[in-house]
Amino acid sequence: MPYKDPEKAKAYKREYRRKTYQADPVAGAAAAREWRQKNLDRAREIARDNWNRHKEQYKKQQYAHIAEHREEVRNRQRIWWEANKHRYAGRKKDNRASEQKRRAQKNGQTEGPHFTIPQFEELCVWFGGVCLSCGEAKALTADHVVPLSQGGDNSIRNIQPLCRGCNSKKGTQQTDYRDPDTLEMFLLYDAQAH
Ligand SMILES: [Zn+2]
Repeated sequence: MPYKDPEKAKAYKREYRRKTYQADPVAGAAAAREWRQKNLDRAREIARDNWNRHKEQYKKQQYAHIAEHREEVRNRQRIWWEANKHRYAGRKKDNRASEQKRRAQKNGQTEGPHFTIPQFEELCVWFGGVCLSCGEAKALTADHVVPLSQGGDNSIRNIQPLCRGCNSKKGTQQTDYRDPDTLEMFLLYDAQAH
């Protein structure tokens, strides 16, 4: 259906994509993911444009989302802590960031930014509070996309939430499970929030 008005044509395409997506959300999401992976630069550009255009609305939604899920994330972390605290006997409970730092130093990495626990919590919330590999709402750990031993850094940009099992299964592979649009939006948000 050809439209002369480019805005109308755009709206028509958008509506078409929405209907196709609704008809089969799994295939729709897979197709969108595939497109993004092939058109990473363009996908980033679109995400950035969208963010700039709807920044205020997004921020409001994201803050509401974070506020709504923060308790959930904290609860999950509490459950994880209860199950794992014996391993940290003698160390402080809020010491996980310095634990990361200690490990980074052991790997010869002392310089550069270190993500904080609140930053990691927000990253978890941003990605739906689930492990990005198995999709389950388990206790989440900070996985380094590029391992520290392979030159990765400790910035939030190099972190993805994985459950303990998927984190250790990933080992030293550099698998990035993060949706690039979501990541891009998170990093824009993070740059403003911290
Ligand atoms: Zn998992």
